[in-house]
Amino acid sequence: MDDIRSTSGLFNTTMSSKGVAVVTGSAQGIGRAIALRLAEDGYDLAINDIANNQQNLESLAKEIESKGRKATTVLADVSQEEEVKKILDHVIEHHGGVNVFVANAGIAGPAGGGFATVDGETFDRVMNINARSTFLCYKYAGQQMIKQGGGGRIIGASSVAGKKAIATQAVYSASKAAIRALTQAAAQEFGPSGITVNAYAPGAINTTMLTGGFEQADAIIGHFKSLSPLGIVGEPQDIAGLVSYLASDESRFITGQSISINGGLFFD
Ligand code: NAD
Repeated sequence: MDDIRSTSGLFNTTMSSKGVAVVTGSAQGIGRAIALRLAEDGYDLAINDIANNQQNLESLAKEIESKGRKATTVLADVSQEEEVKKILDHVIEHHGGVNVFVANAGIAGPAGGGFATVDGETFDRVMNINARSTFLCYKYAGQQMIKQGGGGRIIGASSVAGKKAIATQAVYSASKAAIRALTQAAAQEFGPSGITVNAYAPGAINTTMLTGGFEQADAIIGHFKSLSPLGIVGEPQDIAGLVSYLASDESRFITGQSISINGGLFFD
């Protein structure tokens, strides 16, 4: 990512750092794998999650530091505008700026959450944590990258559900479709400043979101395996590999895309 660093000229990172990456919702699951992969790629990290997950976030910071990279933690609820601004203030204060911003944090809707059971309050909560947060992260990350002189990578978390709605996850599906649209709009607005904006659109990935709180976790995994022509479910590292590519110079001609990474669950 040397080209991005050279256009910004603002960085106060550790020796031979590739740049600075922010990953939201990174105390566990996909975000955790992304943060570790970007550290292995040579980035310093500002990692975020909510206060409930502080302990996991701090142990992740230690793991990143053990790879020889700088890691700072910032507790913030990304659905709140002032808290997203706090993440940007943090990364400017502790790292001098940001090259890669991964808006990963998200929640699923309630199990079986179709029109019969979901109320307006739940709709607002899922939309706020998934779609509103992505809008806010794209907005303030993009503005900061422009302030730095342009260049950068913004990456969001859509889903197969954002491309083909799941009946029992109506609101989640709507929130992930919104992220797809935000990704397209942000790519057009920030493109002239040399910033690419893309999202990953995973199928079933083996995290707490997929199996957590369910006694029949093995059955859930088995079900999703049976839907893939490859006969496998994804692991967080699969998404981390895609993000590593999207963060790199190799992906310079890709923007505005929500990239399916779903083991062939469906084709689009
Ligand atoms: P996860 O539940 O394991 O992790 C989500 C993380 O986000 C948690 O650490 C949680 O504390 C954090 N978080 C929740 N609300 C937050 C908030 N308001 N502010 C900051 N952090 C918050 O989930 P995951 O499977 O790792 O999912 C990561 C992303 O990938 C999500 O956006 C999810 O919708 C998306 N995704 C996951 C799958 C899957 O099968 N696991 C499929 C498609 C898309």
